[in-house]
Amino acid sequence: MLDVLRKIVQEVNSAETVRLALDLMARRVRDAMGTEVCSIYLLDDSGQRYVLMASEGLKPEAIGNVSLGLSEGLVGQVGLREEPVNLENAHTHPKFHYLAETGEDPFHAFLGVPVIHHGKVLGVLVIQQRDSRRFDQSEEAFLVTISAQLSAVVAHARATGQLQAMDTGDTHTAFYDGMSACQGAVIGEAVLLYPPADLSSVPDRAAEDVEEEISRLDSALVQVRSEVRELAERASRSLGREEQALFEVYLRMLDRHALPGEVVTRIREGHWAQGALRMVVDEHVRNFELMDDAYLRERAADVRDIGRRVLAYLQTGSRRQQDFPENAVLIGDEITTPMLMEVPRDKVTGIATRVGSRNSHMAIVARAMGIPTVVGAQGLPLKQMDGAEVIIDGYRGRVISNPGAELREQFEQIIEEERTLQAGLEKLRDEPARTTDGLAMEVMVNTGLMTDIARSLDRGAEGVGLYRTEIPFMVRDRFPSEEEQRVIYREQLQAFAPRPVTMRTLDVGGDKSLPYFPIEEENPFLGWRGIRLTLDHPEIFMVQVRAMLKASEGLNNLRIMLPMVTSVIEVEEAQHLIHRAWLEVREEGMDIPMPPVGVMIEVPAAVYQARALAQRVDFLSVGTNDLTQYLLAVDRNNRQVADLYSSWHPAVLQAIIHVVEQAHEEGKPVSVCGEMAGDPGSALILMAMGVNTLSMSASNLLKVKAAIRQVSAMFARQLLNEVLAMDNSEVISAYVDLQLEKAGLEELLGRRRNIQ
Ligand code: PEP
Ligand code: MG
Repeated sequence: MLDVLRKIVQEVNSAETVRLALDLMARRVRDAMGTEVCSIYLLDDSGQRYVLMASEGLKPEAIGNVSLGLSEGLVGQVGLREEPVNLENAHTHPKFHYLAETGEDPFHAFLGVPVIHHGKVLGVLVIQQRDSRRFDQSEEAFLVTISAQLSAVVAHARATGQLQAMDTGDTHTAFYDGMSACQGAVIGEAVLLYPPADLSSVPDRAAEDVEEEISRLDSALVQVRSEVRELAERASRSLGREEQALFEVYLRMLDRHALPGEVVTRIREGHWAQGALRMVVDEHVRNFELMDDAYLRERAADVRDIGRRVLAYLQTGSRRQQDFPENAVLIGDEITTPMLMEVPRDKVTGIATRVGSRNSHMAIVARAMGIPTVVGAQGLPLKQMDGAEVIIDGYRGRVISNPGAELREQFEQIIEEERTLQAGLEKLRDEPARTTDGLAMEVMVNTGLMTDIARSLDRGAEGVGLYRTEIPFMVRDRFPSEEEQRVIYREQLQAFAPRPVTMRTLDVGGDKSLPYFPIEEENPFLGWRGIRLTLDHPEIFMVQVRAMLKASEGLNNLRIMLPMVTSVIEVEEAQHLIHRAWLEVREEGMDIPMPPVGVMIEVPAAVYQARALAQRVDFLSVGTNDLTQYLLAVDRNNRQVADLYSSWHPAVLQAIIHVVEQAHEEGKPVSVCGEMAGDPGSALILMAMGVNTLSMSASNLLKVKAAIRQVSAMFARQLLNEVLAMDNSEVISAYVDLQLEKAGLEELLGRRRNIQ
C-alpha cells in the first residue's frame, strides 16, 4: 500500500493544474481501493458550501454543479465532526441527503474523511460502493493518509488562487509564501533567470576525436574563466574586495586539475565533451545534494552553475546575454551569487526563488545590497510568471503575481511611505539614541560582508555588536589562513575605530555550515554548533583568535564573543585558549591589550546560568533568534511552524529580564543582537528591561533610533509592565503596535502592516 500511496502522491504533485491533480487523485484512489466511487468535495470561497470538485463514479455533469451546506448530508457530517464517517448503508443514516444529479442511488457503503490543513477543514474525500459493507480499518487508514496528502495540494491551490480560477482560466492574482531573506516591498516585472544551457538534456555520445573534444573543452574553459573574472570584478565593486573569494572558488573549480580534469578523464574513456561534463557535474551535485544541510545543498547549485556555463560555450561557442527591464524582479529555482552579479545592479528590484535558505550566500548578499528578497517560495510557477507583474513583499515573505489594481495601490502606498520615512530618518544619523527624558541607548550594527561597513557608518552606528565571522568562511573552499583572516578583520576594526567591534568566534553548525567542513547530524540544531565545534578544534579557534588579536594592533577596539554557550566550563576553556593566543602574539612582539570577552545567551541553559557566566566574562549578549527557537522548540527556518515562532512570547521576555537582572547584579552590561533589537516596538521593550546595547541590521538602525527618540523611558517602562501582565504573544504584539500608534510612531510600524 505504501508503494501505491507514494506513486499517487508523486503523480498528483507533478500534475500541471489543480483540475488534473484532483481528477487524478479521484481516479487513482478509486482504482487502488477497488471501490466504485471516489469523490472530492471542497469548501467554496465563502467557506459555506462543499462543492463536488472531482469524481470517478458519479455523473460527470454533477462535477462543479452540486454542493452541500456545512451541516448538510453525510459530507457535512464528516466536516462537522472532523473525523471519518464509515457506514455500511448510507441511505439509512438520518443525515443522508439524496442528490439526484449525482446518480448515487446504487451505492450503499460510504466512507468519508475530512481534508484538514493546519487545523482547518478544507473539504471531504469520499469513497462509495454498491455492496452494503463497512470499509475495514486498513481501508479507512489508507483514505485518511491520502486525505492528509490531498490537504497540502488543496491548501497550496487555494493560497495561490488556482482553485478560485479553476473554471474561469483567467489570469488571476496569486500568492506564494516563502521566507523573507530581505525586508522591503517592491513592484516589478518578473524575469526568469534561466540557465545558460541545459545539462540534463545532453545525450550520451561517443567521442569521434578525443583530442578534438579535449581542445573544445579547453577553449570553453578559457571563456568561462574570463567570464567569472569579470563577475568577480563586478562583485568587488558592489560588495567589497573580500567577495572575490567566492569567485576564486569558482576559478579553482575550473582549474584544469579540478573538475575539468575529471571531465578529461571521461573524454579519454570515450565520451564526447558535453556528455563527459554532464556526468562529472551530476556526480558532484548528487554528492552535495545528499547532504542534509541547506547550505551544502547550495554548493550543488554552484557546481551546476559552473557546468551550465561551460556547456553553453561547448554548444555554441558563445553566451547569449539576457536582457533586463528597468525594474526586474529576478525569479528562479535557485539563484546563486554569480547569477545575481550578472544582472546590472540598477536593474534589480527584487528577488524570489523556489528553493534556497535565508542563510545562503546569495541571501546574505541580497540583504547587504538591500534588495527585497523572498526565498523558498515553493509553488512559484516560474515559466508562467516570466514577464508578469509581481510584488515582492519582503516584510511578510510573500510573492504576489498579477496583483489587482487595489492591491497594487496598497503596495505603492507602502513603498512610498517607506521611501519618505527613510528620507526623513537620514537626519538622525548623528543624533544620539536618547529618550525624551534622557535615557541613552547604545545602538550598534550586525555585520558580515565588507559592504555592511559603509551602510553602517552611513547610518551612524556606534560600533559593531555582532560581526558574524562565518560569512567570510562561507565563500571559500578551505579555512582561511591566519593572515587572510587578519586582513579581513583588520578592515572591520579599522573602519569602525575607535568604536568597538564585537567579533563572534566561528558559529557554524545548525543551519550554517562550510562546504569544506561538512557535518552530518540527525538534529543539527541540537548538535555540533558554535563553541562546541571550535572547542573540539582548538586549532581553528586559536588561528581565528590570533588573527583577531593581531588585526586589532594599534586600534584596541576588539571585543570577542562566544556563540552557543551552554555551560560555564565551555567559557573557561575558551578563555584559556584566548589567553594562550594572547600570550603567543605578545611573545611575537605585538603590544596588544587583552580584549573584553563576552558570551552569547542563546539557549535556555545559558539563561539560568547567566549569573555564573556574567561573573567570568565582561559582557553578555542575547541572541534572540536562537533563544526564541530553543525556548519555544520552534525551528527558526521551518515555514510549517513559522506562526509559532515569536520573540514576543512571554517566556522569551521573562528569559531576557532574568538575564539582564543577573548580569547587572554582577555589574556587567547586556546587549541584544538578534532580530528583536531591530524592531522599533521590541527595541523599546528591551530598553525598558534595562538592556544596555541594541545591535541590529544597518537597515533598521535609524528606525529604532527614531522610536527611542520619540518616547520617554517612563512610557517604555509602563508599556513593559502592561505587556508582562499578558500571557499571549499575539496579544502582546498587537498591543505594543497599538500603543506605539497612539504615541505617534505609526509610520515606524508601516512595515508590519498585514495585507492579504
Ligand atoms: C541569534 O541567534 O540571535 C544571533 C544573533 O545569531 P545568529 O542569528 O547568527 O544565529
Ligand atoms: Mg545565533
